[in-house]
Amino acid sequence: MGLIRVALDVPIDRLFDYRCEDRTARVGARVLVPFGRRRLIGIIVAKPEHSEVPAAALKHAHQILDEQPLLGRLDLRLIEFAAGYYAHPLGAAIMMAVPASLRRIRRRDQTPVAYALTAAGAAIESSLLPPRALASHRLLALLKSAPVIGHTAVAAQGAAARKALQTFVEKGWVRKASPEQLPSPDSPEVTEGPALNAEQTAAAESIVSAIGGFQPILLLGITGSGKTEVYLHSMAAALARNAQVLLLVPEIALTPQLQSLIVARFPGTPIATLHSGLADGERAAHWEAARNGKARIVLGTRLAVFAPIPALGLIIVDEEHDGSFKQGEGFRYSARDLAVVRGRLAGVPVVLGSATPALETYRNAVEGRYRMLQLSQRISAKPPLIECIDLRQGLPADGLSGRLISAIASRIERGEQSMVFINRRGYAPVLVCGSCGWTADCGRCSAKLVLHLPERRLRCHHCGHDSAVPAVCPDCGDADLAPLGQGTQRIEAALARHFPGARILRIDRDTTRRRHAWPDMRKRIREGSVDILVGTQILAKGHDFPRLNLVGIINADNMLYSNDFRAPERLYALLSQVAGRAGRGDVRGQVLVQTRFPDHPLYAALRNQDFEAFAQGLLAERRQAGFPPYVHQALLRAEARSVDTALQFLAKAARAARGISPAVTVYDPVPAGMMRRAGRERAHLLVQSGSRKELRAFLQDWHQRLADAGDTATRWSLDVDPSEL
Ligand code: ADP
Ligand code: ZN
Ligand code: ZN
Repeated sequence: MGLIRVALDVPIDRLFDYRCEDRTARVGARVLVPFGRRRLIGIIVAKPEHSEVPAAALKHAHQILDEQPLLGRLDLRLIEFAAGYYAHPLGAAIMMAVPASLRRIRRRDQTPVAYALTAAGAAIESSLLPPRALASHRLLALLKSAPVIGHTAVAAQGAAARKALQTFVEKGWVRKASPEQLPSPDSPEVTEGPALNAEQTAAAESIVSAIGGFQPILLLGITGSGKTEVYLHSMAAALARNAQVLLLVPEIALTPQLQSLIVARFPGTPIATLHSGLADGERAAHWEAARNGKARIVLGTRLAVFAPIPALGLIIVDEEHDGSFKQGEGFRYSARDLAVVRGRLAGVPVVLGSATPALETYRNAVEGRYRMLQLSQRISAKPPLIECIDLRQGLPADGLSGRLISAIASRIERGEQSMVFINRRGYAPVLVCGSCGWTADCGRCSAKLVLHLPERRLRCHHCGHDSAVPAVCPDCGDADLAPLGQGTQRIEAALARHFPGARILRIDRDTTRRRHAWPDMRKRIREGSVDILVGTQILAKGHDFPRLNLVGIINADNMLYSNDFRAPERLYALLSQVAGRAGRGDVRGQVLVQTRFPDHPLYAALRNQDFEAFAQGLLAERRQAGFPPYVHQALLRAEARSVDTALQFLAKAARAARGISPAVTVYDPVPAGMMRRAGRERAHLLVQSGSRKELRAFLQDWHQRLADAGDTATRWSLDVDPSEL
């Protein structure tokens, strides 16, 4: 009896066995199976000899949908690892790795199928066919004309041809064949880039020499040091060896320059791009190109770490510290960490590039587990001059210090651009009643509503709540409602007052929502038809604006003190990225940071642009306090109607954890930093251990106990290696 074990996207954490007599069933291919009263598409993950399910209870699979596996063995192993490590149901994890359009049942199966003549079929002379079976004659001629014929070519001949094909298959004259793979280019065409400097050359050579085996590499290069050129050279070397390259980036929409750079450097090399902005069909097509090897470069966001890339030869993770590599809900994997796992499985080097790597990565490099390559010099201009503006001497009500204003004025005079960075969109983060102290709060979140003045709306940035600005205070009826604090809109308005003739462009999620809005803006900035940019962290990512020479950072102090021990690490990365925008042309850049804490070690390190000193300091603190990367953590997140329900669930979970492992510390349940969100109340429970292995074993056991308890009032999930508390 033929058996297949199938992964299905159902919320039950197990695989399902079916009978299947079709000998073409292959591990990694899709199969259509009955499930309860439904039919579902799943992926075959094994062809076991025996099943735990009694033979009589085993159902028959309906149909094998793919001749060729969609996922290779290494792809399945990566997903299995990830599902185990992040405690996510395996079936759901496997199905998530497949594009949505391949998971849906269609009336007509549209996977590419092709046909070829068997030896018996090739021997058939047309004189042997019934003389009036015209369709059969035409089909035979068609099949003899090419080694492999696509299904569409047959279908185009009409219903009679399809029927004839069926007969040919039954007679054993025709077999299904895999669609032809386009031969990859012999040697990829590479256009000339700038000659590498000495540091770049050394880095690229080191990466190229690692091709052919597993080697994690940290490429630590300050902003503007030319990391991208090092990537491109390493990619060229991998492509020349006929390997595919996987390049993971935080957000493609924000880094279109990288994509066009790659296209220009490797003309004629097919590239697959994979990100959430693609329509289902587009995504499936790119995914298929990666899978069948046509695409030699796969450029994608975190989900692309699971894309099947059979000839993978090199993995690059750009801005590896970026928080978006960690999925924030559901399957909470870290694509950066999985990239390293994938590199190990596939035996290929993994380059992690950043100016401010995650402390986890940095420590691995310092302690020799990763190779460290450094780019310490900017390519063209000198590094920017970073200074603090001490706000303890006072700050005008509009939030812009006199020194920043005059610095902007002199840039405008010289025809240069300035940028004001503020990490908050909207007009003001708080609307307050001057007579009774009422503030506009979100009813569904523990958060204030943000005032969007031009639109005259109050919006919650967490749940999407959107309402009109009240004319009077809902509590006391007074009309004295005033905005408190600064957002991008308010700074934009203040700048317009200071510089009436200046061309000011605001860049935040609100102004870039429209498709193509951001590329259009980038063009205007590069052309020089903008004097002052005001924006959020959208502006921080690797953009090259040659006329931008002054960066003003305001309200960074807000992010300085936080309950999350990772806050300084993240703030440093953000600010150094923002600062790195200044002076990428010929003029030396200037960065002014408005702060009440000019002596804070973070600002001191930023002024010296000494990531390593800062990182060493943070690592020493983390070691002392027993924080990651010196311990490993997992967070049990719980969400319920009321926080008490969530806390009770967690208390029970803590009791269930008792006695599982002495090597794991279980902390007390606490309400989440933002307790209410979109009408649900949240709490969590931290567990940690000095040993990753012990923690994994503990989590497996614990997760099983929690699942068995079957609590329904609380939605819960495990977050392994949580990046935010
Ligand atoms: P990073 O990503 O490290 O911040 P980039 O890769 O964006 O830096 O490089 C900064 C700028 O320097 C880019 O405009 C790039 O084209 C240019 N560049 C990089 N390497 C060289 C080189 N060897 N010679 C001349 N220009 C270079
Ligand atoms: Zn009031
Ligand atoms: Zn809300």
